[in-house]
Amino acid sequence: MAEETIFSKIIRKEIPAQILYQDELVTAFRDINPKAPTHILIVPNTLIPTVNDVEPEHELALGRLFTVARKLAADAGIAEDGYRLIMNCNRHGGQEVYHIHMHLVGGKSLGPLLCC
Ligand code: 5GP
Repeated sequence: MAEETIFSKIIRKEIPAQILYQDELVTAFRDINPKAPTHILIVPNTLIPTVNDVEPEHELALGRLFTVARKLAADAGIAEDGYRLIMNCNRHGGQEVYHIHMHLVGGKSLGPLLCC
């Protein structure tokens, strides 16, 4: 059984976060350490530690990440200029929190790569 992270507590509203969206499948909240004017994390409510743990039964929730990203980008006024969606996996991917999450980053020109 995977170990819960701080994100499970945010989803259950046991610790504070700036939650922008929540439904039965996903929760979106502002990143505590934003890397751009808009930096939102969109997470499935179910704990999936990494992309390596994704199963077909998760497809509905993971698809919802994209429809919510689209909505939140529009709400933030960054849809037209564009933005970046990022999902890190494990050490080499730079993953810090082992509860799968999509970063929605935008509000400025991000360049061709984040870093390498
Ligand atoms: P990762 O490196 O795992 O892809 O990204 C984890 C992200 O979670 C980081 O951008 C980090 O700033 C954010 N984060 C870590 N702890 C918290 C927290 O307690 N609250 C919020 N809102 N964001 C967090």
